[in-house]
Amino acid sequence: MRTHRNSAPAAEAGVDQALASFQSFLHRRSLRVTPVREAILRAALRRQDHFRVEDLVDDIRRAGGAVSVATVYRAIPLLVEAGIVEPTEVSGDGRCYETAFGREHHDHLICRECRRVVEFHFEAFEMLQREVAAKYGFLLTDHVHELIGVCGDCRQSREAQSPD
Ligand SMILES: [Zn+2]
Ligand SMILES: [Zn+2]
Repeated sequence: MRTHRNSAPAAEAGVDQALASFQSFLHRRSLRVTPVREAILRAALRRQDHFRVEDLVDDIRRAGGAVSVATVYRAIPLLVEAGIVEPTEVSGDGRCYETAFGREHHDHLICRECRRVVEFHFEAFEMLQREVAAKYGFLLTDHVHELIGVCGDCRQSREAQSPD
């Protein structure tokens, strides 16, 4: 899945910060950062896109690490609770994750032709969502906001194919 992201992957300093924050999160749970957990965290932070658990397993194995799919599935909820990654929905691709550490909240525009995902943040949307929730007596804790359409590149190649 291609993603157009506003921010670069976590720089090395960001990775150290994330690791330190994961360490103190696990410490509060009387858990440790095992080499496998660290490898999963590093693989997740290297990802610039919306990834599935299996993508992380592939990344770690390609880098020469030995890890089982079950281990990564078990580690992911810890990374989510620690705020390192967050679950996200990208239509048609099921449950995905993306890095959350040091990043601002954003929503997604999805091209239904090439599956390109564009991330955006639009404060007016955020305000309206809070207003709608309040109007119906909800305290907003989360939202999934997807706009689906056809991206500029796909629209151009469509026009090129049918010039009329
Ligand atoms: Zn497209
Ligand atoms: Zn995203």
